[in-house]
Amino acid sequence: MAELKTLIAGNWKMNAGGADGIALAKAVLSGATKESFSCELLLCPPAVVLAAVSHVVDGSPIATGGQDCHAKAKGAHTGDVAAEMLAAAGATYVIVGHSERRTDHKETDAIVRAKAEAGHRAGLVAVICIGETEAERDAGETLAVLTRQIAGSIPAGASAANTVIAYEPVWAIGTGRTPTIAEVAEAHAHIRREIGGKVAEPALTRILYGGSVKADNAAELLKVANVNGALVGGASLEAASFLGIARAAG
Ligand code: PEP
Repeated sequence: MAELKTLIAGNWKMNAGGADGIALAKAVLSGATKESFSCELLLCPPAVVLAAVSHVVDGSPIATGGQDCHAKAKGAHTGDVAAEMLAAAGATYVIVGHSERRTDHKETDAIVRAKAEAGHRAGLVAVICIGETEAERDAGETLAVLTRQIAGSIPAGASAANTVIAYEPVWAIGTGRTPTIAEVAEAHAHIRREIGGKVAEPALTRILYGGSVKADNAAELLKVANVNGALVGGASLEAASFLGIARAAG
């Protein structure tokens, strides 16, 4: 397996959308400048502060991304943000298909695929989220769900350069619960196999684990085969804990 650059991505969700977001970005930048991590850092703030956060980290190795985008480039879509607008605000990544979008906004695999395609159209790396619910895991359907979501959510033209997969068991998001190391390894190996034929250069495509990653469990999770980084929610809202995860990544 080729050595892939570990990606530690912070998904701020609907938090830190004002001066607090700018302060958080400055604190992450200051810590990252002092320690110069070998992993790549990505901050995904609310859209309203994306341009300002991009400005804070401009010229540093820290990247920024949107948390969602509309499938269309422009038009009468009140309240929505186009991938092109994210790019204009300095983003180089966009998260699509987060389970909170799939649940709260009834986003289907087809919608997620269209959004990922929009990200690619705008020159962004699409971080495509997949993962099973607790009921699906309990029913022994985890791998089948991942197969279905991979088949439905990854657009034509996906490559290791423009696509990252984030495996996020829905029941592990924001709960403090994580799958066992064996379960993470099984899911990531399955994803690696299944993206063959869907993503050009599947072996070089980064697969992130997400779901209650903290500074104290990151090292163990990031050691698992086929885990090439983490998508971090709660622990990305404080510079110290986010930097602690980056430190664990090396
Ligand atoms: C997420 O929302 O992508 C996430 C993984 O959240 P948390 O780290 O809080 O579980």
